[in-house]
Amino acid sequence: MLFPLKFRPKDSYKEGMRRFGANRDHGRRKHAGCDLYAPIGTPVFAVADGTVIAAYPFYLGSWAIEVDHGTFVVRYGEVKPKVAPGIKAGAKVAARQLLGEVGLLKGLKMSMIHFEMFSGAAKGPLTVKGNPPYQRRSDLMDPTPFLDAADMQAGKPPSPCFWFPGLQTGGRGFGLDADSRVGLAHGGGQFGFTNGM
Ligand SMILES: [Zn+2]
Repeated sequence: MLFPLKFRPKDSYKEGMRRFGANRDHGRRKHAGCDLYAPIGTPVFAVADGTVIAAYPFYLGSWAIEVDHGTFVVRYGEVKPKVAPGIKAGAKVAARQLLGEVGLLKGLKMSMIHFEMFSGAAKGPLTVKGNPPYQRRSDLMDPTPFLDAADMQAGKPPSPCFWFPGLQTGGRGFGLDADSRVGLAHGGGQFGFTNGM
C-alpha cells in the first residue's frame, strides 16, 4: 500500500485525537480511522489500484471517497466536495492516481484526511450507527500498521492516467475556492458527528 499523501504529517496519526480508537463524543464512540493532518488543497492519491464505490457528503461540508482496492476498502474522508475529474462510482483508479484534495471542515481550524480501512468481508454502508463503539461496518480495520508500512509517493513516477493526462503531475486541475463555497452551501451541520473526524 502507498501513503495517500506525498508526505507524512508531522502530527502523528498514532497520537492524541488523531489515532484510531481515540474517544469521540465524550467516550460514547471511538475514532474509526487515522487523521492525517494536511493543509486544505493537499492532493490525495489512491493507495493502490481499485474501483471507486462512491463519493458523497461526509462531515462538516467535506466529502468522502470510497474505493475498493481489491483486498481492502478505503474511505478517504474529509476531502473537498469537488473530487478529481472522473472519480465517481464504478471508475477504475490506478495506484498514485489523484482522487481529490484535502477539504475545508466548516467551523474547525484543522484539515486532514480521515483515513478508514475495511477488509471488504462485509457489505453495505460503512457507517453503522447501531454498531458501537466505532459505529462502523463489522469489517472495520485499524489502518495504523498499513500506514506505517506504506511506501511514500514522493520521488516515484506517477502511474499512467489514461483518462486525464493533465493530472499526471498531481496538479490542480480543478478549482480551489468555488468548491469550498459549494461545500458550505449545502454541507455544514447536517452530517452528524458519527460520520466524521
Ligand atoms: Zn478522523
